[in-house]
Amino acid sequence: MLLAGAVVYALAWPRYRPASIEAGFWFEPPFAFESNRLGAPLTASEIATIEAVARRELRAAFDGLPIEISDRHDARYTLRVVQAVRDLRFKRPVGVAGQSRGIAAFGGSGSVSFDFLANGAMAWAPDDADRTELVAAIGRGIGRTAVHEFTHQILPTAPIHDSRDDQSYEYASAARRAQYYGPMHWDLAWPLLQHKATH
Ligand SMILES: [Zn+2]
Repeated sequence: MLLAGAVVYALAWPRYRPASIEAGFWFEPPFAFESNRLGAPLTASEIATIEAVARRELRAAFDGLPIEISDRHDARYTLRVVQAVRDLRFKRPVGVAGQSRGIAAFGGSGSVSFDFLANGAMAWAPDDADRTELVAAIGRGIGRTAVHEFTHQILPTAPIHDSRDDQSYEYASAARRAQYYGPMHWDLAWPLLQHKATH
């Protein structure tokens, strides 16, 4: 019985097409953030705006691929936004924008640092940016980091850091203006994501 079942599954497998890749993304407050550039602390409604902007960035980046962005914690690929993320490669505390683990064919999980990206949005802000723009930039920074981390998870063996385009999602560092301000686009990972999503 078991063997017959296995054979049927093996024969059926090459024709199997998943409806979509599900990516769960959610915020885990509370978040504490202080900055002279921002002035008064972020309000609850501004944090809700940051989450909405981040989710919009994520949806826009994967638009055109069968990748469904939800807030489900049991999705195959997950990312949670937390206060801070430590780089586990170092013994001393080193903050990073995000970190992920991806296991080919199984899924992945990771985290994105609210603190790192809120600070980055302040550091790279144009001189004339007002509070509304600063808040939106935090959301963009978080959303674009989430795009980068989900790409690592979905393509765990792809060398996405090979991109030299510092306005691309794949670029290795979040220490750049385009992480927060101006447009961002795909470089080398897009055809790989298309292939992955349809095979
Ligand atoms: Zn990376």
